[in-house]
Amino acid sequence: MSLYSQAEVNLHTHSWYCGHGKGEIPDYVAAAKERGDLKVLGFSEHCPVPDNRWSSTRMDYSLLPSYVKDVRAARDCESSLGEAGLRILLGAECDSLKGYFSYYRDELLGGCGLDYLIGAVHFHHDEETGEDLYPNKIPNYTPYLGEYVKNYTDMLESGIFLLGAHPDLFCYYTPWSADLKAASKDIIQCALENDMPLEMNGLGIRKGIIEIGGVKRTRYTIKEFWEMAVDAGVRICCNSDAHRPEDVHGWPVHDGYINECFEFASKVGASFVSWEIEGERIRPVVVL
Ligand SMILES: [Zn+2]
Ligand SMILES: [Zn+2]
Repeated sequence: MSLYSQAEVNLHTHSWYCGHGKGEIPDYVAAAKERGDLKVLGFSEHCPVPDNRWSSTRMDYSLLPSYVKDVRAARDCESSLGEAGLRILLGAECDSLKGYFSYYRDELLGGCGLDYLIGAVHFHHDEETGEDLYPNKIPNYTPYLGEYVKNYTDMLESGIFLLGAHPDLFCYYTPWSADLKAASKDIIQCALENDMPLEMNGLGIRKGIIEIGGVKRTRYTIKEFWEMAVDAGVRICCNSDAHRPEDVHGWPVHDGYINECFEFASKVGASFVSWEIEGERIRPVVVL
């Protein structure tokens, strides 16, 4: 069994497979090894579902075996290097809708033998048009917070996911308010009750600062949410959410921080979980 600090681990990594990422699996492995401080790289491609819902921004279902094969090949190649090799994990980022949970559990974790699943809510489903809208298409998320919280907490309670990704994605263009605060509280409370780590997401910071409701801030990974998470004592992890090989570490070392998440964490007083890995089994641990 091995114990890794959060600084040595990145579990949220995409590639060309999802259609909006760049680079092959080996390109990410090479980029992750450049600096030498990363010890564990987990691939978590936006996974397909059998009916190819969200297909324009997700891996096609027909590509799943090829994705699994590529990540396993990278893992075998790295493990043949012994101490010099990176520890590679095979995962997926899954959209939380209860109807797909048995597929995620039985086919992805079961049949395909994935090492872990990341859970996330990316879309609001518009009943009238049948469209699934990403928050960048929604100027005000307030009417859909109930749907977001339900899907997010279903994921946290399901017992099939390792962590909850970018829990504050609903803040994208919506000014902080009592409603957003209440939604954040529900998610944080649920994560606390289910011992689930919430992910401070590097991409939310790297997307940059914009003005939202007269306030200059990032779209998500915002201090209001994460100060609440810290106060509640919930488990917190961080990931780069790389969609290009050069982003695998997040922003490069600056001001003494290894990346943007570590800098942000120090501003909101957060400390991160560590990761315990045995074979291909991974779990978060709090090291005191
Ligand atoms: Zn993506
Ligand atoms: Zn995501």
